[in-house]
Amino acid sequence: MLSSKSRLFTKQFSSQAKRLQSILVIAEHDNKKLLPITQNAITAAKKLGGEITVLVAGVQCKPASDALAKASGISKILVAENEAFKGFTAESLAPLIVDVQKKSNFTHIVSGASAFGKALLPRVAAKLDVSPVSDVIGIESPDTYIRSIYAGNAIQTVTAKDPIKIISVRGTNFEADNLEGGSTTQETVSADSSKSDLTEFISQELSKSDRPELTSAKVVVSGGRGLKSGDNFKLLYDLADKLNAAVGASRAAVDAGFVANDLQVGQTGKIVAPDLYIAVGISGAIQHLAGMKDSKTIVAINKDPEAPIFQVADYGLVADLFKAVPELTQKL
Ligand SMILES: Cc1cc2nc3c(=O)[nH]c(=O)nc-3n(C[C@H](O)[C@H](O)[C@H](O)COP(=O)(O)OP(=O)(O)OC[C@H]3O[C@@H](n4cnc5c(N)ncnc54)[C@H](O)[C@@H]3O)c2cc1C
Repeated sequence: MLSSKSRLFTKQFSSQAKRLQSILVIAEHDNKKLLPITQNAITAAKKLGGEITVLVAGVQCKPASDALAKASGISKILVAENEAFKGFTAESLAPLIVDVQKKSNFTHIVSGASAFGKALLPRVAAKLDVSPVSDVIGIESPDTYIRSIYAGNAIQTVTAKDPIKIISVRGTNFEADNLEGGSTTQETVSADSSKSDLTEFISQELSKSDRPELTSAKVVVSGGRGLKSGDNFKLLYDLADKLNAAVGASRAAVDAGFVANDLQVGQTGKIVAPDLYIAVGISGAIQHLAGMKDSKTIVAINKDPEAPIFQVADYGLVADLFKAVPELTQKL
């Protein structure tokens, strides 16, 4: 039991400790705009407390850095431009981040736990000789973080003792910062050392869709092996159109070739937490649940009343999807 004096000291110490934090957030963007995960990472950085700097590195990336200029609670935006950042490879960005870190001595480096962050942060951590903490879902204090393990079946609390904490945060667990209410200066940083002989970016092909992006959509309609073919996914696209929803899939549906693998939701796919998740013909294997069980409302349509998906569903419909889905779409 702490005495009131030591409680006061602890309180003062923790608020002082928070003030002493200096956090570098690595922005994820496509040069023209910020990707939503950056807003989640900024919220996580604010929970750490302390001064926040955001690094925007790219090629002609001013529109992306401008999107941060009115954010509140950010001390500085660092902008680094170099042709080497084409394709945002970890090999070209890591030396820049190490340089920036050496000059400014941040206590924390934070990014989203996206494919970008997952490729970049371990490389930066290795160069700085510290252990990164990945996939953080909650922040207890500047050095203690909550993360999920075993496909979301256990929650771990970790205290990082390294002098520099490098963490990636799961976007769905931190509200998006609204990037409003302030004004922040932008500063150009040199990116001369950022060349890599290890990799060369050649090109990328992005799938185009008029539907909302899967990880940030408010409504997601997902299909599983129960759909039986790629053509039958049309039933889900029709339903998604009525709800302005993104379409997702189980791994079984992806492996069977019904849809492309960028639609996969789950442990080895995307993590989503929309307001409404409709699982159609999906059994509810733990690896699928790992990617969607934080959704606010879960609806399951499955003909098997014993399907595990019903254990996490708020609303369950035991029915043949080939009858239920067209009926639902028509009623909507
Ligand atoms: C290391 C590892 C990682 C994995 N990662 C992922 C991941 O990221 N995402 C993921 O989804 N899975 C993942 N899996 C696979 C996972 O274990 C399951 O195999 C997969 O999720 C099953 O997909 P499904 O529910 O579509 O298929 P099934 O389990 O075959 O379920 C199909 C469901 O459709 C129902 N159904 C069939 N016909 C109809 C009908 N006419 N009307 C209504 N319902 C119908 C059935 O009752 C059944 O419940 C992973 C597995 C491993 C080992």
